[in-house]
Amino acid sequence: MHNLLILKFFPFIAIAIAIELTFLFWKHKLNRYYSWKESLASFGVFVGYVASGIFSKTLLVGLSLWLWEHRLLTVPLDTWWGILLLFLAIEFFYYWQHRASHRIRWIWASHAVHHSVNRLNLSAAYRLGWTGWLSGNFLFFLPPVWLGFHPIAVGVGLSLNLFYQFWIHSELIPKLGGLEWILNTPSHHRVHHASNRAYIDRNYGGVLIIFDRLFGTFTEENLSNPPVYGLTKPVRSHNPIAIALHEWARMLRDMQMTRSWRDCLAIALGSPSGDGWAKAFRTKLRELN
Ligand SMILES: [Zn+2]
Ligand SMILES: [Zn+2]
Repeated sequence: MHNLLILKFFPFIAIAIAIELTFLFWKHKLNRYYSWKESLASFGVFVGYVASGIFSKTLLVGLSLWLWEHRLLTVPLDTWWGILLLFLAIEFFYYWQHRASHRIRWIWASHAVHHSVNRLNLSAAYRLGWTGWLSGNFLFFLPPVWLGFHPIAVGVGLSLNLFYQFWIHSELIPKLGGLEWILNTPSHHRVHHASNRAYIDRNYGGVLIIFDRLFGTFTEENLSNPPVYGLTKPVRSHNPIAIALHEWARMLRDMQMTRSWRDCLAIALGSPSGDGWAKAFRTKLRELN
């Protein structure tokens, strides 16, 4: 459902991209903001994302229907407050899913695909990973079902959350005044896609930016520090399969260089940069050994 809904939005997405391209062409900025090879590769990655959705969908639908049978409560979705709670719940769990995607390498292996674009434009929005089912991203959306939100409502809400994020992949939209306080905006998402030291691993929100403000991961775009897009170790390939699997390959290579399964586990569960708790976790495992 998640993926099929995206296909319904496709005409709108194509028109918006055409407007962005026309505007950039008119302003003689097309080459600065677009790379045809990169955008075409993103489209190839998107096709693979839709196809691989069958795995995530089967897992999410199967598990959530089972959980729904064992739910704690039932939130009535024919009330305004029920819809508001659903929206906030999806935003909350999306935030933690996205934060985990950046801080746990096993999940980053799927999410790095989205961050592999070296130029930010609307065509980058749907460069999405193929292996979320393997990384376990869907697990983050089971708690709202268990708490009492119907699985279909959670699925539709997630699709809308993803669709909202389409327009924030633009360099052309400036800061938006008061909206910047509440919403995730193009400015906030430029920071999220940047690999500058000051910007890395910030602004995880979906529609809202308030959870970043609450949990200390918010950073404002500083106009004197323009974002540099892409990964700290950039991906140069334009082959969709190589793009979709590059971080798994890098992770496996790192694992091959370790001495024990404990080190492998520390790599998989540690942060992608190998700093902070990945290091601490590895030390702890050695102590236990
Ligand atoms: Zn991200
Ligand atoms: Zn993005």
